[in-house]
Amino acid sequence: MKKPLLIVWDVTSRCNLSCIHCRRDKKRVEELGKEDSFTLLEKISNVLDLERGFLVLSGGEPLLRRDITDLISFSRDLGMKIIVISNGILLDDSILQFFERKEVGVDISFDAATSSTYGSIRGVSGAYERIVRNVMKCVERDLLESIITLVLKLNMNEIPLIIDMMASVGVNRIILDSLKPMGKALEAYWKLSPSPSEYNMLLKRVCENSLELEDYIDIYVLDPFFTLISDKYCHTTLRDRESYICGCGIGRALYVSPLGDIKPCVFFPFTVGNIMELEVEEVWNTVLSNDVVKNILNVNKLEDPCKRCKYRDICRGGCRVRAYILTGSWFKPDPQCPLANPNTIRAKPI
Ligand code: SF4
Ligand code: SF4
Repeated sequence: MKKPLLIVWDVTSRCNLSCIHCRRDKKRVEELGKEDSFTLLEKISNVLDLERGFLVLSGGEPLLRRDITDLISFSRDLGMKIIVISNGILLDDSILQFFERKEVGVDISFDAATSSTYGSIRGVSGAYERIVRNVMKCVERDLLESIITLVLKLNMNEIPLIIDMMASVGVNRIILDSLKPMGKALEAYWKLSPSPSEYNMLLKRVCENSLELEDYIDIYVLDPFFTLISDKYCHTTLRDRESYICGCGIGRALYVSPLGDIKPCVFFPFTVGNIMELEVEEVWNTVLSNDVVKNILNVNKLEDPCKRCKYRDICRGGCRVRAYILTGSWFKPDPQCPLANPNTIRAKPI
């Protein structure tokens, strides 16, 4: 059995932002104590493919944990490669020096070309310039893995500008991600997300613009159906498709919540167990033997138009979670795919 290539652990639910699309809608703080966190990390290190895989520390905002450096040092001693996903606000010189020493990569979530758009999305004012400075510091220290940009109705017209801006300060990779109907974005999904045709047009524009960008930047789009859109633009496509997670990551990645609940992906609507209660050998098997996961991994179960789509084996129907929540079926196409029939969308999400 192949081990997971990516494990995402939300180290805390606490956050210093208040994003309109947050996947957490609970106010209650969820966080394990330090000793339990060490136990959890030991288990994770036995589940992860240590040679090729990564542990991603996310949140909430992971840097809000006072013991984050202890957790990272412990994980590195266990042989895990680490990426921290941060909103960028707390990336001061001392934490960046620590990341350098421990060879930790950084992903920064950043999704606006102006301070006012940033404030409207992230629910704070005054942080924008600091984050841009911190992005540049990470680039200077060669710590930045990627900028992660969530595409919303509010910022879709700024996406080409954000890409340009990031390329001009030396960012090597930007990842465009789309909204998932979860937390605050469950009921508000169609208010917050571009429509499928708006999204499709934007992605085409991104591909076209990328051919003329002055500064080089890799552009990744996490949506599996991007293959369909990008097919004719050879240099902006999901390179290395086989190993890249979230095209779709189910069956290759594992999500662990702040309290140890495990899911086949971050946005999956239910948990399949708790890592603290399972033996190491049971953890990954619990995911792969889940009936819903087995069905999702069987592309023959997909309905039209995926069934006959030439991208089916790469795309696997797009985002399965979004399909399920917005259509009520695990086998209908992702409603954000330009080929999907809009009549499959339920009036209310599941
Ligand atoms: S029709 Fe289905 S398989 Fe084809 S690109 Fe769209 S979501 Fe993917
Ligand atoms: S179901 Fe959607 S969010 Fe989850 S791994 Fe697949 S594409 Fe990503």
